[in-house]
Parts: sequence; C-alpha cells; structure tokens
Amino acid sequence: ALSKNKDDMSSGLSIDLHGSGMTSARTRERLISRLLAQGIRDTRVLDVMRQTPRHLFVDEALAHRAYEDIALPIGHSQTLSQPYSVARMTEILLADGPRRKVLEIGTGSGYQTAVLAQLVAMVHSVERIKPLQEKARERLNSLGLHNVRLRHADGLVGWPGEGGYDGIIGTAAALGVPTTLTDLLAIGGCLILPVGAGQQQSLVRVRRTHEGLQQEVIEPAHFVPMLGGVIH
Ligand code: SAH
Repeated sequence: ALSKNKDDMSSGLSIDLHGSGMTSARTRERLISRLLAQGIRDTRVLDVMRQTPRHLFVDEALAHRAYEDIALPIGHSQTLSQPYSVARMTEILLADGPRRKVLEIGTGSGYQTAVLAQLVAMVHSVERIKPLQEKARERLNSLGLHNVRLRHADGLVGWPGEGGYDGIIGTAAALGVPTTLTDLLAIGGCLILPVGAGQQQSLVRVRRTHEGLQQEVIEPAHFVPMLGGVIH
C-alpha cells in the first residue's frame, strides 16, 4: 500500500518516506536483523516493518532513535510501542490464517495501525486521547493508508454496532481479559492483549472457537496501562 505514496511525492507532497542518515535503509535493516534475532519469523511482517517509516510516527527530535528496538514517548504519558512488540503481536495475529477485519485498541501514534493496514483488509482502531488520534489520522492519510477507520472512544466499552472481528490487538495492558472485547470476536478470531498491572504483564491470546474461548499466555510484556474514559 505504501508504494502509492511515491505518486504523492512526485506530485509535490514532501514526505520523508525513505529517510536519510539515522533513518536510512541501512539503519532500518539493522532493526529488521534485530527482530529476526529475537525470533520474529513472519516475512510478511518483517517486510512491512522494513517499508514502514517509523520515524514519521514520532516528533522530529526523536526521529534519529526511531529504528532502535525501544518504545518512544508520543506525549500524554503514552508511548509508541517497541518494534519487537508490534512485530510479535502482528505475527501472532496472522498465524492462524488471513485476517480480514481487525480491531486495534489504542491507536497512539498510529504505527501499529499502519503495519496492520498493510497486512489485513480493514483495520478499525480506537483511541481515548483525541489529540493523539488526530495526529495518527494525518500520518495514515499522508501514507495513503485508506483501509483504516479511527474512532475516538474508550475501547473497553467496545465498538457498538460492530463485531465479528477476525482479530483484535490491544496495545495497552488491561487488568483482565475484557469480555467487551472477546464478545466482538468472530468464530476463529483471536484477541492478543497484554494483561496485568505494573511490570507484571503477560501477552495473552484468546481464541474464539465453536466450543468457546481458549486462553493462553504467550510471554512477558511491557505496555502502558489501559485506562477508562476519553480525553478531548
Ligand atoms: N499502538 C500504539 C500504542 C500506543 S500506547 C503505538 O504504537 O503508537 C497505548 C495507547 O492506548 C495510548 O495511546 C493510550 O491512550 C491508548 N489507550 C489506553 N487505554 C485505552 C482505552 N480504554 N481505549 C482506547 N485507547 C486506550
């Protein structure tokens, strides 16, 4: 989907898609090597992360750190998730077969949203902090990613009128597995979410089958907490 952007650039829109120096192709390749070394195996995920300009999802002052495998501040006490976490959750999401309609809780910078939008047919993403959502919307539009619907809401309340998601990714840690989210899963769908308080978090996968819900712990996780209510 990002190739579309080359047209945008030739028509005068100046987006630093390819980067230079600390955001160059070589710098990005180092991140991909690190993800491989950490056990990320899905080449679709690695290819999309190689192409996605993470430096455009943070303030310019932090752009030089965008291809390190670290979470970065995006304001409002929130962070752009660590690349390893983005890769791992996306890889798990895709593991059981193609995903058509995916829900993300916690748009934040929009980086995970952008990665998902290049791998599944339709992404819905919910964010409780309006200014973060607005910035994310601009970034996704400028990258030509149009198979995304953003919503300003508390993701713990669900997305009324919607449901039947093949996949749901939570990018903030919940204290338990919210039934408001598992209720939105289609049969065969899965929810991937960090669960736990403070530093005691685990990445959990919940699959919805004909027999009911199956829950398993994947590995330790480190995310900002999922909070209730919205900020305008
Ligand atoms: N995927 C984002 C992660 C941002 S951090 C990125 O890579 O940039 C987690 C985000 O979840 C924050 O932006 C936070 O505001 C949001 N969040 C926390 N609780 C939420 C809730 N209940 N509903 C919607 N968004 C929530």
